[in-house]
Amino acid sequence: MDIQINRAAVIGAGVMGSQIAALLANAGIITYLFELAPTKRTEHEKNLGLTLNSEIVRNRLSLKAIENLKKQKPAPLGSLESVNYIQACNLESDLSKLSEVDWIIEAVVEKLEVKKELLKKIEGLKKTSCVVSSNTSGLSIEQMVADCSDSFKERFLGIHFFNPPRYLKLVEMIPNTKTSKSMIENMRAFSEERLGKTVVIAKDSPNFIANRIGTFGLLLTVKEMLEKGLTIQEVDQLTGPLIGRPKSATFRTLDVVGIDTFAFVSDTLFSQLDEQEKELFKLPRFMEELIHSGAIGQKAGKGFYQKV
Ligand code: NAD
Repeated sequence: MDIQINRAAVIGAGVMGSQIAALLANAGIITYLFELAPTKRTEHEKNLGLTLNSEIVRNRLSLKAIENLKKQKPAPLGSLESVNYIQACNLESDLSKLSEVDWIIEAVVEKLEVKKELLKKIEGLKKTSCVVSSNTSGLSIEQMVADCSDSFKERFLGIHFFNPPRYLKLVEMIPNTKTSKSMIENMRAFSEERLGKTVVIAKDSPNFIANRIGTFGLLLTVKEMLEKGLTIQEVDQLTGPLIGRPKSATFRTLDVVGIDTFAFVSDTLFSQLDEQEKELFKLPRFMEELIHSGAIGQKAGKGFYQKV
């Protein structure tokens, strides 16, 4: 394996980014966890006399994500102390840190334009040897770097971790047409040997492999079973522990994934379908209403299940 990854940056300290940072920290890699800098102070911050430039305010979101990680169980082979390998950073004043790292993983919101803009920014900041990857669930890898140079494309690929990334073994790797073959092999070896993952190489098609199947299965279950008059709890019993899937029942999975993120992912597929297929993949109205009201799942403390 030719690639040396000693330091990494994860951009986006949400559901996936924070846990990918923990996965890397568990593997002994110093990791910078980047978030957007807040534009407003909270009442508490105002009372403490902090300004928007105070580090504790600028890094509020990534610091909070790191605090949450400290409360979780350590991953196999990991330890709570390894969380100290993660440093909170923000996407304004800390950007120069991107030039220090060997691997940059973008894990921001599932919107093509946001990812394109971010990757273009990264192109001007990273060191030449740095590998860049996207954790997209299924957006086009090719389109994401359409505005970038060939040398950037050579070291760019989709590396799709599954939720929760510290525990689930599967990783999909999705090259673009310019990704260097040796880099794919190096990243595959690194993911297997250092991160303990099982890698599947996927084509750059909407939602790749697992989410293509997963989105279809979840949407169909939600629609069919609720139409048949079953409750959320009944659906989860039937699709969870009783069939040997203790943690992956339908609605619980949607809450853990994030109902908003699930909607973005199913939309990637939806836009490619013909009219008849669209009917099948349309998000049910009650899920749209949940998103509209901010009840987007575990990360918001409310979704199909409420945090009490
Ligand atoms: P999330 O909603 O928890 O977090 C999204 C992050 O993006 C937040 O940190 C937010 O501040 C940041 N963000 C939003 N707008 C931004 C902007 N304009 N610039 C920079 N950052 C911005 O989402 P998530 O579930 O962590 O998903 C992140 C990525 O991982 C997505 O591409 C998603 O498809 C993918 N993914 C998600 C899951 C899952 O189960 N949730 C699984 C695999 C892959």
